[in-house]
Amino acid sequence: MSTKPSHGAVIGGGLAGMLTARALRRHVDRVTVIDRDDFPGGPDLRRGVPQARHAHLLWSGGARIIESLLPGTVERLRAAGAHRIGVQSDLVNLSPYGWQRRFPETQFLIAVSRPLLDWTVRDQVLADENITVLERTEVHELRGTSGHLTGFTVRGLDSGETTALDAEIVVDASGRGSRLRQWTAPLGVPQPEEDVVDSGITYSTRVYRAPERAAARFPMVSVYADYRSGVPGRSGLILPIEDGRWIVTLSGTRGGEPPTDEAGFTAFAEGLRHPLVGEVLATAEPDGPVRGSRSTANRRIHYDRLERWPDNLVVLGDAFAAFNPIYGHGMSSAARAIAVLDRTLRRQSGKPELAATVMRGIAAAIDDPWILAASQDVFYPDCRVEAKDPRLSEELHSRQDFSERIGTVGLSDPLVSAASAGVTTLAAPVSSLQSPAVLNTLRTGPAQPPLTEPPLTDEEWALLR
Ligand SMILES: Cc1cc2nc3c(=O)[nH]c(=O)nc-3n(C[C@H](O)[C@H](O)[C@H](O)COP(=O)(O)OP(=O)(O)OC[C@H]3O[C@@H](n4cnc5c(N)ncnc54)[C@H](O)[C@@H]3O)c2cc1C
Repeated sequence: MSTKPSHGAVIGGGLAGMLTARALRRHVDRVTVIDRDDFPGGPDLRRGVPQARHAHLLWSGGARIIESLLPGTVERLRAAGAHRIGVQSDLVNLSPYGWQRRFPETQFLIAVSRPLLDWTVRDQVLADENITVLERTEVHELRGTSGHLTGFTVRGLDSGETTALDAEIVVDASGRGSRLRQWTAPLGVPQPEEDVVDSGITYSTRVYRAPERAAARFPMVSVYADYRSGVPGRSGLILPIEDGRWIVTLSGTRGGEPPTDEAGFTAFAEGLRHPLVGEVLATAEPDGPVRGSRSTANRRIHYDRLERWPDNLVVLGDAFAAFNPIYGHGMSSAARAIAVLDRTLRRQSGKPELAATVMRGIAAAIDDPWILAASQDVFYPDCRVEAKDPRLSEELHSRQDFSERIGTVGLSDPLVSAASAGVTTLAAPVSSLQSPAVLNTLRTGPAQPPLTEPPLTDEEWALLR
């Protein structure tokens, strides 16, 4: 790309697509977003984002990037009823290693339904009159060469008509189902390699009405599987969201899948490594049916390693790398990728090889969430691993010894807990766990003994009565 672009096109108007449109507008005169779905006029579910029915944690690493692109978003979400949950202060969490002490907050997460989050972002992005959306529209074919795109043709799903759309920069943010490999093949772009680590995890989710006194404030309650146990990983999470509701997501890896019938859902929650999720749930009123999801494999596509690639085509969000959702890293990873795009455009706009630089930056930005998820998931029974990443074979056990030490000491030590929270929330790189202070504490061990019971206070138990 050799001139400053004036028109950017984004394929897919999910969370990543909308944030990309916002970031692009800092650098181009106008942006067109195309989506094959209809956008509801409020915080409602839609067909194109079926995972929106399930609990979505927005970690502080992602929330801060969204806030930098759209200042005031967190406040707006909170005004609409979202909760700001302190990490570790507002978490009652059984990690693979034990009960986590509730140290003062060093990071946070935003607990909100996905439709409200998407709507809050979309509404602000589309307030810019130079960002246009073409709904019920999909890409027909890309135009240009394997070195440079001139745009693409789109087809209206209702009219069936195809129209040409010129664009100086094109971003694919069309999610896990992206067809970019099929679209680029006719241009002579080689097929990229793909790494997959699939624990076969499935989700079952149900929304509940929180007990009245717990509706305004209650910690997030979670019981996670122990990936070292040699049995399928079963986990459960109660996430307080807007309107006094709790979204309750249960999950199980291959062989331990949660049921989607009501009685089975409750029994699964009660049968986790600790019955706390089941006990807390018993105090709440169901507010809808149980729903399932299976779109959960860790998958990264190495577009960044291709020798031939259009210099103005970028891929990000789930279209580039998608993760086992239990780690809550998808949205924050997309935000990190968009921050890379924004930074690179600021420094490099008008220079050739823009896309190659962006794609390398994105590959680096999603590497931590990839290895965090993949290096745990490989331990689950019958996990399907089709990946050449050496860290998942020869280096795996030494990585795991270190993670285990961090996880165990961090349960009862504030410094290691804070370092670990930085990584979990994607606010700090995995390499920060190698700081001298952390390594020293790992040697000396935690200052306090491990907890043997869930750290739910008497006042919190009382809110459930
Ligand atoms: C069950 C589940 C739970 C999850 N929980 C969490 C969590 O707790 N925290 C977290 O951060 N992440 C979580 N994730 C991941 C998160 O949902 C994704 O990372 C995030 O939605 C990625 O956003 P995206 O915009 O890339 O893709 P999507 O949100 O999937 O959006 C893709 C968009 O592209 C459109 N589209 C698709 N194909 C085309 C096409 N051919 N042409 C035009 N438009 C198209 C779709 O209509 C949609 O609007 C979870 C995922 C699942 C499945």
